[in-house]
Amino acid sequence: MIPNPVPIPQPVCPVCRSPLRDTAADARPGSVDAAQDPAGCAGCGAVYPRLYGILDLRPDRTPSAWDDADRETADVLAAAFSAATYSELVALQQSRRRESEVRGMRAHYTGYLLGQEDRSRSMVDGFHAGLDRIFPGGPAGAALDLGCGSGAGLAALAGMYGAVVGLEPGLSNLILAKKALESLPGARVLLIRGVGQALPFGDGAFGYVQMQNVIEHVLDADPVVDETRRVLAAGGRFAADSRNRYDLFRREPHVHLRGVGFLPVRWQKPYVWFRKRIRYEQTRLWSYGELKRILKRRFGKDFRIVFPVLAAYGQSGYLDRWVRRVGRIPCLGGLLLRFFPSHWVFTCKR
Ligand SMILES: [Zn+2]
Repeated sequence: MIPNPVPIPQPVCPVCRSPLRDTAADARPGSVDAAQDPAGCAGCGAVYPRLYGILDLRPDRTPSAWDDADRETADVLAAAFSAATYSELVALQQSRRRESEVRGMRAHYTGYLLGQEDRSRSMVDGFHAGLDRIFPGGPAGAALDLGCGSGAGLAALAGMYGAVVGLEPGLSNLILAKKALESLPGARVLLIRGVGQALPFGDGAFGYVQMQNVIEHVLDADPVVDETRRVLAAGGRFAADSRNRYDLFRREPHVHLRGVGFLPVRWQKPYVWFRKRIRYEQTRLWSYGELKRILKRRFGKDFRIVFPVLAAYGQSGYLDRWVRRVGRIPCLGGLLLRFFPSHWVFTCKR
C-alpha cells in the first residue's frame, strides 16, 4: 500500500531555525548528483555546504580526522555509485575503515550491514505494533529516521508514511542510503546530513521519529531527547531500540566482549583497548535506569521501556513467547528487563 503523500518538512537553520534559501535542488534519492550549491540561512546568514546533492546542516563543521576519512570514503563510493550494487558499496565502505576500529571484525560488520534491511523492516513493524498498543494512533504526518545510517530503515518507513526524512552525520553512510533508495524511485525521502543535538527542522514537523541502533552511539542523550520532543507534533510518537549496558546474556555487540557495561563508563575505553585493541570511542550503552532518567526528564510519564521483539533481531518467535510469559510474572519480569540484552523505548508527546 502506498501512503498518501504529505509535504516533506523543509529543513531550517540548525542554529537559529530560520528558513534556508536555495534548498530547491534537494537530494534526489537514488542518484549522486553533483549539485554543490550551498544553502544560506535567511536569519543568521550561516552558509551550509552541499555535497553529492546532500545538504550538510551540522552546526559544527570543524574539520577533523574522522571527517576527512569519511569524506574520502564518500568520494570513493560516489565514484563507484552507478556501476556498483548496494552490497558492493557496503563492502567498499567497510574495507576502508581503520584497523583500530574493526580489528578482525570487518567481515562481521559487513555481514551485519547487509542483513540490516530485513531486520530494520521487522523492527519498524514491531515499533508500530508496540506504539499502537501503548499510545494508539497509527502512522500520521511525516517520519524522521534519526541516525538513518546506510538507509536500511528508510524503505520500510516510505511504505508507511507519506514523507520521510533520513538524517545522519556521516556522508559515506548517506551515499549508501541513496543507493538503498534506488530501488524505490517514487519514495518521498529527503536525506540530510545533520546531528540529533541540533535538528534542522521546525517545532512539530514530524508525526513520528525513530532511532534504530543509534542510542548507544549518542554520548550526550539529553539534548537529543530534547530535540526529538521539539520536532514531534502534538500526539507525535517516538520509538527506539537500545542495547542494555547491564546485559547478562550477550557479549557487547560492537566489540564482542562480555561485561564491558558493568565497568564504570570511564574504564570502558581503556578496558576494550587492553582486551581487543579496538577504539571504543563512539559507543556508550545505556542501562534501564539511565534510559528511564533521560526519558522522564523530557516526557514525564509518557514513556515506556519494554522487552524488544526478538524476531526483529533474527531470533526465533519461540523466544518472544517465552519472554512475554516471564515478563508478566511480578518482580521476576521487571528484574529480567533490567538485565535483558536490549530495550525498546516508546514515547508520545502530549
Ligand atoms: Zn541561522
